[in-house]
Amino acid sequence: MPVPLVRPRPPRLSQAVARLRTIEDSGVFSNFGPVNTEFEHDMVARMFAGQGACLTVCNATIGLMLAVRQAIGDRPTLGQAQGVPARPRYALMPSFTFAAAAQAALWCGLTPLFCDIDPTTWTACAADEERLLARHGSDIAVVMPYATFGYDLDLARYAALTRRTGVPVVVDAAASLGTRSADGRGFGAGFGGLIVYSMHATKSFSTGEGGVVYSADLDAIARLRQMSNFGFGQPRTATMPGLNGKLSEVGALLAHLRLGEYDDVLSHRTALMRGYRQALPELTYQPELPGTQAHQFAPGLLPPALARCRGEITAALARQGIGSATYFSPHLMQQDYFAEHGVGHGLPVTDDVASRIVSLPLFDGMTRLDLIDVTTTVRRELRRAMRGGRRASRGISPPVLPALVQGAAHDRLPVQP
Ligand SMILES: *Cc1c(COP(=O)(O)O)cnc(C)c1O
Repeated sequence: MPVPLVRPRPPRLSQAVARLRTIEDSGVFSNFGPVNTEFEHDMVARMFAGQGACLTVCNATIGLMLAVRQAIGDRPTLGQAQGVPARPRYALMPSFTFAAAAQAALWCGLTPLFCDIDPTTWTACAADEERLLARHGSDIAVVMPYATFGYDLDLARYAALTRRTGVPVVVDAAASLGTRSADGRGFGAGFGGLIVYSMHATKSFSTGEGGVVYSADLDAIARLRQMSNFGFGQPRTATMPGLNGKLSEVGALLAHLRLGEYDDVLSHRTALMRGYRQALPELTYQPELPGTQAHQFAPGLLPPALARCRGEITAALARQGIGSATYFSPHLMQQDYFAEHGVGHGLPVTDDVASRIVSLPLFDGMTRLDLIDVTTTVRRELRRAMRGGRRASRGISPPVLPALVQGAAHDRLPVQP
């Protein structure tokens, strides 16, 4: 049986006909209707410990555009004077992320300024962020960390950064709905900056299209709500920058249904990721923290000696029916468009991590047998690549692969979610 990288399984509208009919009968199809309001309320209660507020958006990219635009305010570009070319204002972000973050910054008239990442968590490197903040000062309009693959980023550090420098923070947490810290609070709860989550079909909180912006700052969310409704601060009168970022009532219904089934989804995904860690210790993963990390797929790093075999390995997996990808390779600075419209120098850790990353299958309907199939096939291909490498390098000894963990890893997984 082929095993794709992801097999989206949003809630089935066909099994929620009564609730669909309620929407049809209500005559309210968008504009923060009752289903949307109920979803936002339940989201805050269940994911954010009842603290703060959230706003649905039609997708996370629009959510990022709104959040960045609000964070930087209506201030004119610095240095703008007659005849003097405007100095660029920067959005500081890691290059190891998805295009959406840089695109959102560019839509807001900012220049992406790329920093390096931490070699273990693959999130923005604190020291490199500080170096760039010290160097560019107030030319940095916003800091945009990425909670890499749902990793529980240290938000206290970013709150302190805003207090110290005055620079606002917008977190791209596209994959993070469901990530919880050890105390059970959802990732982001209580954070005073803006955090943007995605509900795209391929994310673990899968609905199709949609997103959520969260903040502990109620005024910020209220203003974003107006911005996402054409900037109408008064009835049909724009008082601020705006666009249409609203989620439909049917979209909100999908999100509400997903919220209801999400605990089971998360524990299945957690078990799958644990299975990877145990059955494929040859790969390097993000650190496992005491809470829960939402997993969109299973990312791991190949041993350094196998980086140049990555294409062969993924091609061999594809021939055996196993889907894989290389998020985020090429990283943003390696894409011509962002290299041309952004700034970034010396990203050695990003280059290394991007060169070795592979994303392996993980999805709601993935079974224990699928996992065994994937991990045994990956191991076989790693071995093959090692042997090839040994022949090619003649006498230079290849790295020793850690001993294999047999069986145990798979036994705790549910056969069917
Ligand atoms: C998926 C993703 C986005 C975009 O989310 P959409 O809801 O599809 O717009 C942004 N950033 C990252 C890191 C993502 O993975």
